Amino acid sequence: MRYQRKTIQLLLFLLFLWTFQRMYHFSTKKVQRIYQCWSVNTQTEELKLSDWFFPNAINRSNVTTSWAAPVVWHGTYDEVVLENYYASHKITVGLTVFAVGRYVDRYLHTFINSADKYFMVGQKVIIYVLIDDFSKVPWVDLAPLRMLKIFEIKQEKRWQDISMMRMKTISEHVADHIQYEVDFLFCMDVDQIFVQKYGLETLGESVGQLHAHWYKTSPTELPYERSQLSEAYIPIGKGDFYYHAAVFGGTPVQVLNIARECFRGIMNDKKNNIEAVWHDESHLNKYFFLHKPTKILSPEYCWDQSGPNSIKNGTFKLYWAFKNYDFLRQSV
Ligand code: UDP
Ligand code: MN
Repeated sequence: MRYQRKTIQLLLFLLFLWTFQRMYHFSTKKVQRIYQCWSVNTQTEELKLSDWFFPNAINRSNVTTSWAAPVVWHGTYDEVVLENYYASHKITVGLTVFAVGRYVDRYLHTFINSADKYFMVGQKVIIYVLIDDFSKVPWVDLAPLRMLKIFEIKQEKRWQDISMMRMKTISEHVADHIQYEVDFLFCMDVDQIFVQKYGLETLGESVGQLHAHWYKTSPTELPYERSQLSEAYIPIGKGDFYYHAAVFGGTPVQVLNIARECFRGIMNDKKNNIEAVWHDESHLNKYFFLHKPTKILSPEYCWDQSGPNSIKNGTFKLYWAFKNYDFLRQSV
């Protein structure tokens, strides 16, 4: 009798264990499935322009282009929405910068140091430094998630060629490795300083920068290349904006297109013994005239404090450093 009770107890206990296990199994699977559905939903949901961009939030006209691209001004974007989105869509952003001859000592440290503080805060960043003298790379204590990659390049004799040949070097590096390392890429002049957060609102497929001197000028007056002999030729009356070559960007594939096409134009001009009025910048303007950028940055993203125009204090994110051309453009 005692033996039978023990057996029944044991059987009941086993039944309990089996039921518990089944229930537990069922519930963890269910929880897992609910979690998966939720995460797939949040992972695949596209960020729409209207989620973060508010052109009517500021008192300005033309905050959207005729081809419906946003012109990002301070006050038009919601950085919290963007930060939440990219928290579950991890990205790496690249930044190329060239420093050759006297520009190395004069600007490179300040550029990298300020980019470290303000460029894409909280995101993974790779700064690609292209320099003519490896031994002159400044020491900068970088914040977490930031990395420098240094490449040595040869110095061209003329400053115009230093500036123009960047298009060739950029296209080679994007094709070789950058395209596998970053999701978005910016290419910038070294003679500038970040002073405020330069963030996720600037990312896009192809990004053009409004030139601080020319954003109020009508297209007929813009300093485009006007000779039909040049690849950079834009007829009078045509053109949308005057873009500054000190900042451009996009996805690696788009940057590759931009750099390759500009370099092709530059080399064709050389063959035909012509040089566009503003060198690589003229070719960049031709490119963006033919292939409209998907995002445009206001002059606050590359501001000239001593230029002809003025904007509200404290709205600019990057500004031109002082230039003493006579000194800087002498070969060392
Ligand atoms: N640059 C350089 N050394 C030179 C000339 C140009 O490193 O001797 C690079 C540097 O990154 C610079 C960019 O090319 O910012 C474009 O030249 P620059 O800034 O002089 O052109 P600007 O802004 O005056 O049009
Ligand atoms: Mn410059």
